[in-house]
Amino acid sequence: MPALLTRVLDRLMLQGTITEAEPVAARMRRLRIEGPALAGLDPRPGQQVRILVDGTLTRRTYSVWRYDPSGAVELCVLDHAEAGPGARWGQSARTGDTVRLGKPEGSFVLRPDAAHHVFVGDETASVAFGAMLAALHEGKAVSGCVETQTPGDRLPVPHAGRLDWSLRGTISLPDAVRRLNPPPGGIAYVAGEARTVQQVKRTLVQDAGWDRRAVLTKPFWAPGKRGLE
Ligand SMILES: Cc1cc2nc3c(=O)[nH]c(=O)nc-3n(C[C@H](O)[C@H](O)[C@H](O)COP(=O)(O)OP(=O)(O)OC[C@H]3O[C@@H](n4cnc5c(N)ncnc54)[C@H](O)[C@@H]3O)c2cc1C
Repeated sequence: MPALLTRVLDRLMLQGTITEAEPVAARMRRLRIEGPALAGLDPRPGQQVRILVDGTLTRRTYSVWRYDPSGAVELCVLDHAEAGPGARWGQSARTGDTVRLGKPEGSFVLRPDAAHHVFVGDETASVAFGAMLAALHEGKAVSGCVETQTPGDRLPVPHAGRLDWSLRGTISLPDAVRRLNPPPGGIAYVAGEARTVQQVKRTLVQDAGWDRRAVLTKPFWAPGKRGLE
């Protein structure tokens, strides 16, 4: 990378070093990135960071799985069938690698005061769900539907036993939500594949009677599209 570009990136982006890289589910690796620049960032549960995933300026976005205020950001990166630069980075990242990343951002975040919390999405979405669930007080009402390709793809999220887990191809997410039939009055967090996100929102609003403003949505990926954000 030319020296001028390196200096610009040094000013615009944070930098850290991978200190842990290990499988956290069948097709997901957990990457821990540490460095003094990552101290005191205070991400809200559900927020994401943008990562420079190769030697060029290609960026991909990842939810913050865990955050340590002393200066560590943890991500979980899925190895999917059409692996592009993001998934390849997730697979090849090694301890000692330098990573450039942006500050945490985004409004797909936990609304801690809601009466109950409903999480709907796929393996990619479950990373943000894990951060949100970890921040919820015991005793908060939690439910949801999470779809994965295999049982081994289930992320070890807090309160996992309170979510309905299904395998792709057995029941669609909108049908799983119809079966769950969560009562309106809480907040729903819906993320993952773009079209499914819209279908689930429609199901919550039209079939389950939810106020559309109580359904927070975030498309994380779409077939045929590259790096949605
Ligand atoms: C707010 C936000 C948060 C995100 N959080 C995470 C996270 O925590 N962990 C994570 O792994 N990803 C997350 N993503 C998705 C991530 O940003 C990348 O899109 C993903 O890693 C794919 O990048 P890629 O370069 O491998 O594939 P791309 O080059 O972007 O896409 C190539 C093709 O692969 C397919 N594809 C892309 N993503 C997926 C997928 N997730 N599952 C199945 N097929 C796919 C599509 O057909 C796509 O056209 C998030 C995205 C957003 C917008």
